[in-house]
Formats: sequence, structure tokens, C-alpha cells
Amino acid sequence: MRLLIVEDEALIAQNLKKVLEIKGFATDWLSDGEKAKNRILMYHKEYDAIILDLTLPKVDGITLIKLVRAENITTPIIILTGRTETKDKIELLNAGADDYVVKPFSSAEMIARIASVLRRPAVVTKVVHEVGNITIDTATHRVSVDGAEIALTLKEYSLLECFVRRPGEVFTREELSNQVWDFDALTLSNVLDVHMKNLRKKVCATSNSVRFETVRGIGYRFIAEL
Ligand code: CA
Repeated sequence: MRLLIVEDEALIAQNLKKVLEIKGFATDWLSDGEKAKNRILMYHKEYDAIILDLTLPKVDGITLIKLVRAENITTPIIILTGRTETKDKIELLNAGADDYVVKPFSSAEMIARIASVLRRPAVVTKVVHEVGNITIDTATHRVSVDGAEIALTLKEYSLLECFVRRPGEVFTREELSNQVWDFDALTLSNVLDVHMKNLRKKVCATSNSVRFETVRGIGYRFIAEL
């Protein structure tokens, strides 16, 4: 799961980014409306949801959301608003926001709002995925093989979730890195290989109905026998 935070107050953005990363979301942060507009128009498919501050330099939140919705981009958007701006909430929802959070907010509230927009049927159709003898629960991040839970790190979990959602498909190294790391992070290619090696070891130690194939020069594919 990958989120975009658009917020010009560095402290709020950095705290939020930290909290969300602990919860297993890859997050990118942009601090002005112009950059956000360009990023969303070009890369909206990379994001599961956008957290958008209302008062931003260059292009404000309302203008941005209208512009994005006019392009038929349906990525869920949660607006951050100041206490004095709450009178605008009808306008926010009418403009195409999915939800809004009033500052100052608790991290628990923000996480609940994100979970709620991601749970909507148009966004996530299935919470529990079963492939071969592996079951993953995307709400709790629990993974089990024949009912016995296995412990994965957040990065390993995020990779496995990609594979399980699209078994049999080839994922490029770039796609896998994008799912798991920040846009700006230096994704050294051997970092992906290390996580893949560990994931493979943990999953294949207990499951003999699945395997991760290396597709030379491209990436990886997840194969499950039914
Ligand atoms: Ca602001």
C-alpha cells in the first residue's frame, strides 16, 4: 500500500509519514500544490490513497481535488483541514473528497480514516486472499500457511501481498520496488534481492504449493499450485 501526503507544514507531514510507515504504508511527501498536481496527474495509479492539506502554496487543496476529479482520477482523497476551515466540509465532499480530518488529529484517527477509505468496495474488493495453502489478511497483515501463522517483516509482507493479489504475473523489479519503498528512496537493486531471498526462505520453508520464480532480466513471478 502506498500513500501520498501533500502538506506544507513539515512537522505534521514528517510525523504522519513516520506513523504510516510503522503501519506498513510506503509514503511519499510533497509540500506544494503544483508538485502534487504534476505527481497525481502522472502517477496516480501508484497510490492507494492521497492525504491532502487544504491550504497549500501554489495550488490549494480544493482547486487540486476538483482538477484531479475532472481528469476522472478516482484515487481516494482524505483532506486535512484547520479547525477554522470546517465550515467548508460540504464543499470538500462535493468537490470529490472521500473524507476529511480536522487538525490537530491523532494518528489513531488518521489510520482509521485511511483504513475506512481503503476498505470501500471500489478500492479493495477482498481483504483475505487465499493462494495455494497460503492465506493473507490485508487488514491485519497476518500470513499463514495451512493455518499456521508465519512472521514476516513489513517489507516482506508488502512484497508477498503484491504477488498474492496477482498470482502467475511477472512483476518487474521496478514495480516491486515501487510498492515497497518511497518514491525518493534509493532502491539499490540488491536490497530487493535480499528481501526476496528472505521472503522465499520463510514462505517456502513451510509451503510446498507455492514458489517464487526469478525471471531473468525482468523480475519475479509467484506461482501457486491449486
Ligand atoms: Ca497548510
